[in-house]
Amino acid sequence: MKEILYSSTRGGEKGLTASQAILKGLAGDGGLFMPDVIPAFDFDPETLVGKPYQEVAWQVMKLLLTDYTEEELRYCIEHAYDEKFDTEEIAPLVRADGAYYLELFHGKTIAFKDMALSILPYLMTTAAKKNGVTNKIEILTATSGDTGKAAMAGFADVPGTGIIVFYPKGGVSRFQELQMITQKGDNTGVVSIHGNFDDAQTGVKKIFGDKAFAERLAENGIQLSSANSINIGRLVPQIVYYVWAWLKLRENGEIAEKEAVNFCVPTGNFGNILAAYFAKKMGLPVKKLICASNDNKVLYDFFTTGTYDRNREFILTTSPSMDILISSNLERLIYLSAGEDAASDRVLMRMLASGGKYSITREMKKNIADFTGGSAGQDAVAARIRELYEKTGYIIDTHTGVASAVYEQYRAETGDTTKTVIASTASPFKFSRAVMGAIQGDLGDMDDWAVIDLLKEKGGVPIPPAVEEIRTAEIRHNCECDPGEMEETVAKLLGL
Ligand SMILES: *Cc1c(COP(=O)(O)O)cnc(C)c1O
Repeated sequence: MKEILYSSTRGGEKGLTASQAILKGLAGDGGLFMPDVIPAFDFDPETLVGKPYQEVAWQVMKLLLTDYTEEELRYCIEHAYDEKFDTEEIAPLVRADGAYYLELFHGKTIAFKDMALSILPYLMTTAAKKNGVTNKIEILTATSGDTGKAAMAGFADVPGTGIIVFYPKGGVSRFQELQMITQKGDNTGVVSIHGNFDDAQTGVKKIFGDKAFAERLAENGIQLSSANSINIGRLVPQIVYYVWAWLKLRENGEIAEKEAVNFCVPTGNFGNILAAYFAKKMGLPVKKLICASNDNKVLYDFFTTGTYDRNREFILTTSPSMDILISSNLERLIYLSAGEDAASDRVLMRMLASGGKYSITREMKKNIADFTGGSAGQDAVAARIRELYEKTGYIIDTHTGVASAVYEQYRAETGDTTKTVIASTASPFKFSRAVMGAIQGDLGDMDDWAVIDLLKEKGGVPIPPAVEEIRTAEIRHNCECDPGEMEETVAKLLGL
């Protein structure tokens, strides 16, 4: 098989193996790692119809993680996608109201982040072994609510690793916060920052770029890595479930051989939908990629106008994991749209850092015509959750609700009848207050647990163990800081 090497979107680092790129997380020049070529499938997807998720994962991931041996990669996959998931299918596909919901929330923390973060610790520790790394690997992660918990669940008590998570105080749901501050594991740290998600993400990127700090850590036998979706080790496992969804549609006779489908993805940091684009580039029959935004519709505006402009008010919504104005992974699409030209990418990213804004050329815009943007405000999302429930009895969470509402608009506006898969990114139990508020109207002062019980009754599905655990869990973390104090806080938590 052809070896795939990774280089920074900004041109400063070149020729890393997959395992080296996973270990580093973010490139030293602030760019993101991209494969030098996106490999095509070396199999006919038809031959994978009916195969288990783990086999599909191996077939897809081996094409991009070429320096992992078959034995290593199969080990990672078998240990990630096991009974931690509450269904053997790992990601079930549910048909409702003329669309297909790909349920990506059957892992430990009931959000789609589990799909990649169940395997990342295995990929990372295998990478350390392969590269003779003896330092402790400290994972620094900014979270808009779901990554933090999923990453800690994956890395808790993994020998040779530690993890510190930063979340925006007041910018995540109470349930998300409880999930994080009750996290067990002696190697876990949780910090709330007095700022929003963009502040947290920018702060983490800054720490990665601080060479003096890296040296100080190295003297103490520590090196940093990232579990954010900027890590290529997050992106690659996410490609798998798009192939899986297509295979399920084939298996169920919903589509014909080679029939193309659309994917509609509720988007924040642009990691999930980018994985769908990779699946298309690798050879999956895909037509449109519908990028669904909430009220923070910076991506919708970008796909509509070709201008990315983060200079706007940051709005807190009922879909907090999508409350983002600086979509990190978009940089990978920009790089591709410029014909993999690192110099162009660097110029645009510098404009983003200084003025918060850039525009792409007409040519670049043409190169990403597979994408279309849509946005749905909170009221539209609530109305769509209620409508879907009343029509079908199926209950979706608020993030999935954004995608569902956007898809309805798209279908009405375009008349496109292509079969469409909507990425269902969280269990409704994770956002039960907003979901039940949408279905039931005003909940008054009903307490959170009563709301969860009501959701169980209405939806006719059991309360996931991840929710039950929170009822009695002990609070173990209470660290707070300003965005300017993040580096010091890391040093303190690491005992430097
Ligand atoms: C993270 C997250 C998203 C956004 O995914 P991106 O990869 O950041 O675009 C959407 N929904 C939920 C529930 C999430 O946790």
